[in-house]
Amino acid sequence: MAQQHDIVFIGAGPGGYVGAIRAAQLGLNVACIEREKALGGTCLRVGCIPSKAMLESSELYHEAKDSFERHGVRFEKLHLDLDTMLKRKDGVVKANTDGIDYLFKKNKVTRYLGTGRFTSATTVAVDGALKIEISAKNVIIATGSNSAPLKGVELDGDRIGTSTEALTWTEVPKHLVVIGAGAIGLEMGSVWARLGAKVTVLEYLDRILPGMDTEIATDALRLFKKQGLEFKLGVRVTGAKVKGKGCVVEVDGGQPIECDRVLLAVGRRPNTDGLGLDKAGITLDERGRVPVNEHFATSVPNVYAIGDVIRGPMLAHKAEEEGVAVAEFIVTGYGHVNYDAIPNVVYTSPEISSVGRTEEELKAANVPYRKGLFPFIANGRARALGHTEGKVKVLAHAETDRILGAHILGPRAGDLIAELVCAIEFGASSEDVARTSHAHPTLAEVVKEACLAVDGRALNM
Ligand code: FAD
Ligand code: NAD
Repeated sequence: MAQQHDIVFIGAGPGGYVGAIRAAQLGLNVACIEREKALGGTCLRVGCIPSKAMLESSELYHEAKDSFERHGVRFEKLHLDLDTMLKRKDGVVKANTDGIDYLFKKNKVTRYLGTGRFTSATTVAVDGALKIEISAKNVIIATGSNSAPLKGVELDGDRIGTSTEALTWTEVPKHLVVIGAGAIGLEMGSVWARLGAKVTVLEYLDRILPGMDTEIATDALRLFKKQGLEFKLGVRVTGAKVKGKGCVVEVDGGQPIECDRVLLAVGRRPNTDGLGLDKAGITLDERGRVPVNEHFATSVPNVYAIGDVIRGPMLAHKAEEEGVAVAEFIVTGYGHVNYDAIPNVVYTSPEISSVGRTEEELKAANVPYRKGLFPFIANGRARALGHTEGKVKVLAHAETDRILGAHILGPRAGDLIAELVCAIEFGASSEDVARTSHAHPTLAEVVKEACLAVDGRALNM
């Protein structure tokens, strides 16, 4: 006899676990199937959380080596204990994944350990230690994504790896080649560069961070080069393989590059293998994603999909918003995600963040805009912190002054963008933010000044 539930989520990443909790809050009998023992998905196990733990630790090491002296803090010897750094990262992951177990129990979400597979549009088999069949009124596909392969790049699970391996290397590479200058390439490249590796980033396009505002990405590239990262842009990688104790990376029309580690970071692809979508009657789009409408409904009644497995940016908070929206839509008939107000943050040093339209997008759409820029060098708190690189850029409609986009390169850019996300969500004008009191001395004053600068009246420049 099949287990009965109102709703079952396949996958316990940020989309599935948050959606499951919201559905339980709304009074549904909820189940969540996850094939990994630890809950939390890519984000908690091998993505956002472990990468941020390593970014934090490596930044502290780098600061101790290069910046403490400027603060008058000196010590005799500094050495890297990579083993402890990795163990700490594992501890941070465990605290987070255990936290989801606790939240599931608290919210009475039934967890099934095993791989979920459709046997019909309303039934899902769980292939685990026990064979279970679940029958649910609603099924939500929240199976996430995995690293995209690249033809000719022979992943060996160690020397030539994806972000998952790059989070576990037990020695600092002498020379790391990173394929792809997106978020993963730049974050993980920064980690290993700070810990002492020579890092060469190979990028197919003539710029880094495609999709981000070009002015900000260009400034960021200059800073990364200053930090010692080497970039080869406009380079097409045709292969990579282990050779002796090292690796060799081949590029179109150029000399092969010898190194001792390779990180492949050219994007991610949706997880749909073995899901039995044919049994449910679902066909994928041209990019292997599950097609959904604005309510996350697939072409099959009562089957929905959210997160990395559908269209849109592959971001944890986007998946979370969709998890909440789908649960609310099923229960109340209304659930909404504002895709104009989804921030994007790259956690390098300095951080890079953005929300809304880029300047290129506004130009292409012929939208009249005014632009406000303010540099961190003119901010007292940034000077006190010793982190003065970067700027805030605010784009507002030329006639209505409504904020259309905001882009930040600078210290704590990931936290600072929240104010501008909120502004966009509430349809605020740049003047609204400019007339809001910001505590002094804080980095947030740079956001206020950039909004003042939209009207040509920044105060501290
Ligand atoms: P996932 O988190 O991928 O979860 C899907 C879950 O489904 C997985 O646990 C998987 O095991 C399970 N599953 C799949 N198929 C089945 C099945 N058939 N049966 C049972 N279970 C199944 N995003 C950010 O916003 N900020 C960041 O800082 C950030 N850093 C990242 C760093 C790295 C190194 C990586 C790789 C990604 C990062 N991301 C970040 C992206 C983020 O991790 C994803 O966007 C997010 O995890 C997507 O959530 P999801 O719930 O859709 O899928
Ligand atoms: P990405 O799509 O962000 O970047 C991949 C880069 O690889 C692009 O710049 C692309 O032009 C380049 N590329 C593609 N093919 C290439 C080739 N043959 N040779 C050289 N370069 C090539 O992908 P990613 O960095 O792997 O990240 C995957 C996903 O995970 C992204 O959607 C990202 O949003 C998410 N993520 C987010 C964060 C964050 O929010 N801080 C961190 C890590 C990952």
